[in-house]
Amino acid sequence: MQLILFGPPGVGKGTQAKKLSAKYGIPHISTGDILREAVKNKTALGIRAQEIMQRGELVPDDIMVGIVRDTLKKPRCKTGFILDGFPRSLGQAESLNKILAELKINNIYIINITASEEELIKRLTNRRACKSCGSIFNYKEIKDKKECPVCHADNSFYQRNDDKEDVIRNRLKVYSSTTKPVLQYYKKHNYVIDINGLQEIEEVTNNILSALSNMKNN
Ligand code: AMP
Repeated sequence: MQLILFGPPGVGKGTQAKKLSAKYGIPHISTGDILREAVKNKTALGIRAQEIMQRGELVPDDIMVGIVRDTLKKPRCKTGFILDGFPRSLGQAESLNKILAELKINNIYIINITASEEELIKRLTNRRACKSCGSIFNYKEIKDKKECPVCHADNSFYQRNDDKEDVIRNRLKVYSSTTKPVLQYYKKHNYVIDINGLQEIEEVTNNILSALSNMKNN
């Protein structure tokens, strides 16, 4: 199965992608995670991407398309994949169509997760990541603020630079101006599954699973 998880920053694409990846046994491809890893390892890509990401802007299409093309061609993506954070511009969507044609994939499900802007700002400013395992949490919901509940690292929580409020506002602006038109593009050419992201995590997952199973049975 090939899936695109679409939606604004903070809507829960990453969380849902991890759950769907475990459920279907297909890789979760987060372009944001790929870039953060490159920044951490100070590769040429990381050095170039770091400043752009810190401003909440988009890394140029040619770079992103190259990364996604290389990733989707890997054997681990043969039985399917979940794209999280790509495509984010019309150029990326058009290039993805070409990549899918090269890979002879003609059926891709697009899931659009929705939430209001106030909710997204609230969620993103409360978001903390673990330096050690990369898991993302709502800081208010972590009971022991000193220990990561996933990998048990000590004092490993930090706020990503791009989760600071001024950067978040810019990311939402970029989403409206550049990424949202991708949704209109898909709505013209494909069937898009809309999912309300303002529910409990499990409920969102169940709604996605049942929508996908309806699609497959039709
Ligand atoms: P994310 O974790 O998906 O919100 O991505 C974090 C940041 O990485 C974004 O704010 C962008 O700066 C960059 N990024 C991730 N995916 C893309 C993409 N498809 N195109 C351009 N920039 C991206």
